[in-house]
Amino acid sequence: MDELGEITQHLLRFSPDALLVVDGEGRIRFANETLTQLFGYAAANLVGQRMDILLPERLRGSHHHHFSSYALNPLAREMGARITDLFGRRADGSEFPAGIRLAPFRIGSQLFVAAAIRDMTERRRINEALIAAREEADRANRAKSRFLATASHDLRQPLQTIRLLNAAMMKVPRPELRDILQQQAQAIDSMIRLLNSLLDISRLEAGAITPELVPVDLEEILEELRAEFQTLAQTRGLELHIVPVKAVVQTDRILFHQLLQNLVGNALKYTDRGQVSVNCSLGKDTLTVNVDDTGIGIPADKLDRIFDEYYQVDTHGTKRMGVGLGLAIVREVAQLLKFSVAIAARPGGGTRATVSIPRQFLTTVVPVLEPTIVAAPAETENRPRIVLVEDNDAVRVATELFLKFEGFEVMSAGSSEDAERLFSSVRPTDVVITDYHLDADNTGLDLIRDLRRRQGVEIPGIILTGDLPSLLRRSGTTLPACRFLPKPVDTQALIHAINDLSAKAREAQAATARG
Ligand code: ADP
Repeated sequence: MDELGEITQHLLRFSPDALLVVDGEGRIRFANETLTQLFGYAAANLVGQRMDILLPERLRGSHHHHFSSYALNPLAREMGARITDLFGRRADGSEFPAGIRLAPFRIGSQLFVAAAIRDMTERRRINEALIAAREEADRANRAKSRFLATASHDLRQPLQTIRLLNAAMMKVPRPELRDILQQQAQAIDSMIRLLNSLLDISRLEAGAITPELVPVDLEEILEELRAEFQTLAQTRGLELHIVPVKAVVQTDRILFHQLLQNLVGNALKYTDRGQVSVNCSLGKDTLTVNVDDTGIGIPADKLDRIFDEYYQVDTHGTKRMGVGLGLAIVREVAQLLKFSVAIAARPGGGTRATVSIPRQFLTTVVPVLEPTIVAAPAETENRPRIVLVEDNDAVRVATELFLKFEGFEVMSAGSSEDAERLFSSVRPTDVVITDYHLDADNTGLDLIRDLRRRQGVEIPGIILTGDLPSLLRRSGTTLPACRFLPKPVDTQALIHAINDLSAKAREAQAATARG
């Protein structure tokens, strides 16, 4: 026999898979040695037998049926859709999960079917281990979601209370306590930042956020950032330049705002002297938003790690002010929005973060060249009266205390029902501050709408909510003379919103009076 002939012989006898040939009646006509070893039979005891002998008894009936229909339309294919369905039975009665491939052929008019059979025990074990691991991961993920839901809800209220009490105590004229209270305030703030970042990154990484693309006015977003960061810039002694641009971007408003917010926040955090500026420029294929600072900069060898979760450049020593999640959030958001973000050293010192928005997302772009330099908001003389509606007792008491220490007159109610009693005495320049979740039937938004309808005036309103992003998504367009602030509320932002809304309400009143 020549070499090829010998190879063929060996291959047939000792093929890696067990080989079997049955005729159109389902009788075994050939079995190789791999098969006899796998099933524990001698070949002589198999040839001429019905192939059922190789199957567990419980499967023989259905197999017979399958074989008859296969014989009518024989095709080369894998047998059984799932590997869990097929089993072989050894001579000693033991079973093993089997993978079987079929290939029909004819000699003359007679049909034969060749089968390659493989013991799938190991594969099945791995598969089961994978399923178990997957179930375990799903279970852990559900536990994480439950934890996050609890964290977001149950931690926000007490944190809110502590923050407000701290701000109220700052107003007590005890200079010896000031340092302690200021340190306490910093600790509270970093706790709140951590909580918010953890919630954001988990939601983003869990894929729980689907961007909702709408036309977003970039000028408006820039204006919001200016309003949001001007106080911080002033307290840090920095100039904040935000160059407006008339551009409409088709994107998710909340995520886009969050992305820029993290970049501007970082620029201010890591800059001790000089300025932070936000400029936009239109290139051939992209609109670029640059956030520049004159701060401490980032060492070149650290640049490729700063987008990692929890990574912080360690040279800042005591300056550490975050938890290392800001840029991880930026990375995830940019990916969702299909923008690209790069961070590099700014020529002349400091850092430049660049957001590139592909042209396909742009509707209109008209750059406005003169930079606006932010000035301090004028301190308002006439303090508005506050109508506070909050169902959590601790938060209500703390908010009332804080507002009174800030010099406001406050009327408060613990439910929407209680609030109704105050409605008749509300004046058009009062500011209503309300929790969004009041009771089963009413939200803070309903309350403000109801009050406005009764009084026929747009009474200014501030709505506080633990889950600002979902609220903004649900309520769609914003209500005029109404602000939404996240809980735990930033006390500065709250005061700013009150003063701003009431100044506008007074202007509106004066205009009406002039006729
Ligand atoms: P963090 O919460 O620490 O600010 P981020 O993920 O936002 O975390 O940023 C990661 C690290 O990158 C920061 O700890 C900081 O060291 C560095 N970094 C980010 N932005 C700037 C910047 N504008 N200037 C200097 N360093 C920065």
